[in-house]
Amino acid sequence: MTANLLEFDLEGLAVFCEALGEKRFRATQLFRWIHQRGASDFGQMSDLAKSLRDKLTTSAHIRALPVLSEHISADGTIKWLFDVGDGNAVESVFIPEDDRGTLCVSSQAGCAVGCRFCSTGHQGFSRNLSTAEIVAQLWFAEHFLRKHLQTQDRVISNVVMMGMGEPLQNYSALIPALRVMLNDHGYGLSRRRVTVSTSGVVPMIDRLAQDCPVALAVSLHAPTDDLRDPLVPLNRKYPIDELLQSCVRYLEHAPRDFITFEYCMLDGVNDQPAHAQSLIELVQAHARQGLRCKFNLIPFNPFPASGLLRSAPAKVQSFAKMLLEAGIVTTIRKTRGDDIDAACGQLAGDVKDRTRVQERIAQQRSGSVIPIAPVSH
Ligand code: SF4
Repeated sequence: MTANLLEFDLEGLAVFCEALGEKRFRATQLFRWIHQRGASDFGQMSDLAKSLRDKLTTSAHIRALPVLSEHISADGTIKWLFDVGDGNAVESVFIPEDDRGTLCVSSQAGCAVGCRFCSTGHQGFSRNLSTAEIVAQLWFAEHFLRKHLQTQDRVISNVVMMGMGEPLQNYSALIPALRVMLNDHGYGLSRRRVTVSTSGVVPMIDRLAQDCPVALAVSLHAPTDDLRDPLVPLNRKYPIDELLQSCVRYLEHAPRDFITFEYCMLDGVNDQPAHAQSLIELVQAHARQGLRCKFNLIPFNPFPASGLLRSAPAKVQSFAKMLLEAGIVTTIRKTRGDDIDAACGQLAGDVKDRTRVQERIAQQRSGSVIPIAPVSH
């Protein structure tokens, strides 16, 4: 079996080149071809010696994930469903805005955390993605978009690890993938423009601070343990106080001087004035220990199995107003891609129905579904 070179960060690729009897610096050339130019054909890599290209042809490949579907929303949001084998599929979402292009990337097929308001969580956990499967989402999307927008310039300016899965429960695959995103010979994204979103895996937040401190978003969703336990079951293991203390420690290494707290607004569950008040008290108590944060209020995207409803816009506004008046920076997330189920917490809409995914995979393999043409690979 040959190696998929999307699996390697630059150091990993240098080790791979050495194992082929090549100098380490060849890895930099190869890395640029793969990530900056989107090449998958070693024959294209004209500044590599023919002997190296021959060795690579027999020992390696560069392969995107098969695309099962692509949906483009009226607002320009694009959602791709990728086949990761054995009836599993993961989704990535591109969100264009005036000043940025953000790709939301998945880290696992399914998720073991099982948050009550999350469609992926209801699907259950299948498996961790490999580094190659995480990187392939960015590699495909970036070069697909460049081709379709007919530009050589970078299209994706920000990556958020907020797709399917809890990235900090797939740590060993996540770190090399982040390094590919940050490397100047790869995608050259600054640490501020790459965000890991976690439901609160405290020991791994501490490790991330040491290994690759990118921007951090924490799915908080409740001001007290009593309320958070049933919404985010991981809270039973790492309660709010421990989580916020780890956020304070993370800030010593973070590229931004605040942590973003995500708060999904659930009608009658966590959206009352009393909840806003206890959130304010929680933040103020931890501010004394060094916590700096901002809140992002997320309108819930209902799905039948959740038994939950979206808070009325007026409730979200008054919740935000209370936080703002207490001096807490608060934004309300604009929902994007609603019409294609690409909004936050909706990922896995297609995947939930395994039979349908398996049918799609079978159709694609038999040629009865025309796959979306990859860029140059
Ligand atoms: S919100 Fe995140 S951590 Fe929770 S179940 Fe969904 S994907 Fe997993």
